[in-house]
Amino acid sequence: MAARIIDGKQVAADLRNEVSSRLLRYTVKHGPIKLVAVLIGNDPASKIYAQSQRRRCLQAGVQHDLVELSSSITQPELLAEIDRLNADPSVTGIMIQLPLPREIDEAAIQYRIDPYKDVEGVNPANIGLLFYDHGIIAPCTALAVQELIHRSGVTVRGAEAVVVGQSGIVGRPISMFLGAQMATVTSCHVATRDLAAHTRAADILVVAVGKPHLIPGDWIKPGAVVIDVGINSVQQPGPDGKPVRRTVGDVHFESAREIAGAITPVPGGVGPVTVAMLLRNTVEAAYKQLNREL
Ligand code: NAP
Repeated sequence: MAARIIDGKQVAADLRNEVSSRLLRYTVKHGPIKLVAVLIGNDPASKIYAQSQRRRCLQAGVQHDLVELSSSITQPELLAEIDRLNADPSVTGIMIQLPLPREIDEAAIQYRIDPYKDVEGVNPANIGLLFYDHGIIAPCTALAVQELIHRSGVTVRGAEAVVVGQSGIVGRPISMFLGAQMATVTSCHVATRDLAAHTRAADILVVAVGKPHLIPGDWIKPGAVVIDVGINSVQQPGPDGKPVRRTVGDVHFESAREIAGAITPVPGGVGPVTVAMLLRNTVEAAYKQLNREL
């Protein structure tokens, strides 16, 4: 039987609804919530992403400023800009669009953002607190994956969970969340010897690599829940035979949906839920700044 498709757009709409009453209560009592996105250089994909976030924020009632800086900015200048935003009480959320110019140390920049304004949950202080299971703000994509797994209805406790990819803000936090919920977690990466043997044992399979169609359907356990985080732009023949660009995930969707029990599509799966989580983090960050407690 074909897998149930987990509709990320619907989950994102539900989350936005849930956030709206928290947001209204905050603004009535404490004033506006404002997210500042810092965009460096002219990367077209980053610009599109920033504009779509801006639209979502404004629709929800969150103020949004896009600060566009030249790609020739130096690291001290960018750090000074972050200090300015940290000190500005009207700014409740800060995010730095990636990629950064090569000369700039990404970790140093992320480290400088006030952890209470770090709405993407990328400051090492926030990532580190995940170990203790009570962080200030967790990374949006990991939260999105957790939410999608929850909505799939699968019992996480005792499940075999396999996470392919171990980046600091995606794969590792996802493994940590699943472990905290008592799944038995296997983390796979470039050095994993027999990836298929691991993925075939997974009741819950999360793939966050960035390689189109890395996981074919016959690497999936029948009935598994499959969460595909990957976003890859590929060229494929269109209906008239001419090549067209398409966005695909790390999982071969057409074959996987015949085997899995539930699966997220790409696009329309993890992506929209991540954006909704950014909105939720932005609201929760503003609340946490009221008393700056963990
Ligand atoms: P990343 O920092 O490049 O990490 C990729 C991870 O995949 C690394 O841990 C790497 O292993 C592992 N890997 C690479 N090739 C592999 C292979 N053949 N087999 C097993 N593991 C392999 O990427 P990321 O930031 O985590 O993002 C991963 C993907 O998710 C990308 O496509 C990105 O665009 C997408 N993404 C989507 C969203 C969303 O909202 N939907 C958000 C964030 C990211 P090593 O650690 O051993 O090198």
